[in-house]
Amino acid sequence: MTEETLAKAYDFKSTEQRLYKFWDENGYFKSSNDPRGAQFDPTKKPFVISIPPPNVTGELHTGHAMFVSMEDLMIRYHRMKGIPTLWVPGTDHAGIATQMLVERMLAKEGIKRDELGREGFLERTWEWKEKYGSRITHQIRRLGASCDWTKERFTMDEGLSTAVREAFVRLYEKGLIYRGPRMINWSPSLRTAVSDLEVEYSEEPGFLYYFKYMLADLPGEYIAVATTRPETILGDTALAVHPEDERYQKYLGKDVIVPILGRRIPVIADEYVDREFGTGAVKITPAHDPNDYTIGLNHNLEMINILNEDATINENGAQYAGMDRFDCRKKLWDDMKAAGLVIKEQPYTLNVPRSQRGGEIVEPMISTQWFVKIQPLADKALAAVKEGRTKIVPERFTKVYYNWLENIRDWCISRQLWWGHRIPVWYCDDCGALTVVREDPTECSQCHSKNIRQDEDVLDTWFSSGLWPFSTLGWPEETPEYKYFYPTATMETGADILFFWVARMMMFGLEFTGKEPFDTIYLHGLILDEKGQKMSKTKGNVVDPLIVMDDYGTDALRFTLLVGSTPGNDTNLSLKKVEANRNFANKVWNAGRFVISALEKAPQSAQADPQWTLADSWIWARLNALMADTERLFENYQYGEAGRQIYDFFWGDFADWYVEIAKTQLTAGGDRAFYTANTLLRVMDASLRMLHPFTPFVTEELWQALKNTAQKAGFKPFYQTSEWEPALIVAKWPEAGETEGWEEEKIAQFAAIQDVIRANRNLRAEKKIQPNVKTPGKIVSQDNCDLFKQEKATIADLGKFEIDNLEILKDLTEAPEGWTSTVSSGSAIYIPVPESAEDKKRLESEMAVVQSQIERLEKLLSSDFANKAPAPVVEKERAKLAEFKESYEKLKTQLG
Ligand SMILES: [Zn+2]
Repeated sequence: MTEETLAKAYDFKSTEQRLYKFWDENGYFKSSNDPRGAQFDPTKKPFVISIPPPNVTGELHTGHAMFVSMEDLMIRYHRMKGIPTLWVPGTDHAGIATQMLVERMLAKEGIKRDELGREGFLERTWEWKEKYGSRITHQIRRLGASCDWTKERFTMDEGLSTAVREAFVRLYEKGLIYRGPRMINWSPSLRTAVSDLEVEYSEEPGFLYYFKYMLADLPGEYIAVATTRPETILGDTALAVHPEDERYQKYLGKDVIVPILGRRIPVIADEYVDREFGTGAVKITPAHDPNDYTIGLNHNLEMINILNEDATINENGAQYAGMDRFDCRKKLWDDMKAAGLVIKEQPYTLNVPRSQRGGEIVEPMISTQWFVKIQPLADKALAAVKEGRTKIVPERFTKVYYNWLENIRDWCISRQLWWGHRIPVWYCDDCGALTVVREDPTECSQCHSKNIRQDEDVLDTWFSSGLWPFSTLGWPEETPEYKYFYPTATMETGADILFFWVARMMMFGLEFTGKEPFDTIYLHGLILDEKGQKMSKTKGNVVDPLIVMDDYGTDALRFTLLVGSTPGNDTNLSLKKVEANRNFANKVWNAGRFVISALEKAPQSAQADPQWTLADSWIWARLNALMADTERLFENYQYGEAGRQIYDFFWGDFADWYVEIAKTQLTAGGDRAFYTANTLLRVMDASLRMLHPFTPFVTEELWQALKNTAQKAGFKPFYQTSEWEPALIVAKWPEAGETEGWEEEKIAQFAAIQDVIRANRNLRAEKKIQPNVKTPGKIVSQDNCDLFKQEKATIADLGKFEIDNLEILKDLTEAPEGWTSTVSSGSAIYIPVPESAEDKKRLESEMAVVQSQIERLEKLLSSDFANKAPAPVVEKERAKLAEFKESYEKLKTQLG
């Protein structure tokens, strides 16, 4: 491809799909070191990421776009470093989410899941999965994800199901899994337990209901009590007061009567009761409140469950049996009013527990469930981070991780759903024994009866995703992949699932494999809208990444997300930024086209050794510094900052300055043109390599064109030591060379040239001189006179001076009549435009600024600073002072 055939503007629409196919078909997404291959080298340490498996029901959102972009950046970077990389993709079966979705779909057909039965329902769910399950992974491909799709997994595929079974049986055999009644969160419409993490608390208006608990044996006397959920009165088994509360001393040990039901329950003392809250007396419903549950256990109280699975009242509610929980609340309160037991209702803000999935109010209930005894697992996961075997980035999340694991409760792993890994426990109807085995049994392990039935429940989704980093590689089999690629390297995911998922992988990884599943946990924040607000459908501020990619291209979206991110912090996503980064992709494209045309026109070899211009030396030095900085920033997970610096270099230094100077250097022809083309190629090539992990498509497309042009023209870059690689995705990451000592001086010299040119540009803008008009000029500089003389052509060219009428002087005693002027870094610039009153004002205010700087520096240098600060720092300040003094003299001359 040449400049002529390379489109004028970058067309991402025709590029992205074609390149993705090209990478995939050439096997670039696979590890360069295949543990099943003949050339396998087990000594090469691989870089492995397991993708956070999106829900199979998922549709691409900005959160996915963030983690895919970030992980792809890490993978592409390591791949270019020559490290064998593996990024394992896959999806999660997402128990509740999928079951709800299929149930809703069936509802449209007028079918209830109970009518289909378990098997029929699962059949329909698998059908759904086959049809739509790959939608999300295809959307992920659009982001440029270089995952090894031949290793794609699903949390309910055969291998992963075996892993789940193995994990359950091992924990059971170790006594780390048990079944028992515990307080859990119950979701009535889904009719399943949900984890603490899946409950969200929302502040909502409600009431505090005050009523009378009548003393059983003291007619007319009562204890006033308040509750937010009157229906739970039906399950009360005690009334508690603080042991030191004098108001209630006389009632301790006496009984009170449960309203309407007429049951007698005791008045007990417990220090948990807050004397200041409400009336200081608390009704205790151990079966429907987590705190009451604890009190119930301590006082050996009866636990009366009053709810059915669908949150209607059960037989313990006497005449209220069968009523909905909220209807019961109203009816019972009305009945109590009629019975004269009501005191008052007071408006009160409630903290209502709602299911993260369905949004309905969750009921604390006592229910018989399966649990993992978590403490022994949590201890190991804590130690791994405390002892530095796994590092959390950013570090501040380490504390959060400790805190959570130190206060962890046993994990309820059973869910009353159909879609998921069914609990591998069989109950014997004859002897009551439990059979827990790796293969489905046909008889009871104790009495060999055939009368056995499997537990109806399935496992919490996080049970299988907790095994993800190793189950996807073949565990419990010791496959070559498991042996080589495990443990993985970095776990990159949203900070919001540190507990849901990351902590569980740590616990399971250490328990089952004896190894930390990854050495680094890198957390990113949430993606917010441009104003920093959470995206939500109700607010209407949701950004759809698919539409953004359609409108601006994948590279623009990726670059915006990556450059906007710092570890652990939330990122604001604005379409204006995406648009600006689309413009950056175009800038890169245009610069690339210019370099290609230069390669085609320049001589293909040199007659002599290079004679570098200042601009050449400067851009080489700047590029080398950038490569060193980028490397350092990448090593420190500062990907966003690295992206910003590459952007600034490419746009600010290369495109705006060097390319402009190169245009003149190329017209000189001969060796000058050859070495200029070399420099252009070198900077372009290295920039594309560094940008590739951020913006893979535009860089690959351009790089291919660059390489083809160079090869076709027979252009042999003098700096290149190896052949061109087959594709940028597998090209070598550019490495900074050692600095040679001359760099700082060249950078400083070029900066002085830039200062003069910029100052004159500003002056011209103020004087409203048309961009294409050149003017005569005088530049006065004591220190840089020789440099400016040498670089006169560049200054004249970029500064828009008539080269033959540009004078460069050491001194000027009198300002030229009818000229206007400006000052920059100790140099004065004059152009022949009459001075106005405003100019005089401007110069005077500049002089005032310079004057105050001189005073500041003189004070500083006469203080302790001059003795205490390191010599180079002091020297720098002295030089600054000298420069300001020179500026001052120049301004004085100009003002006459
Ligand atoms: Zn049996």
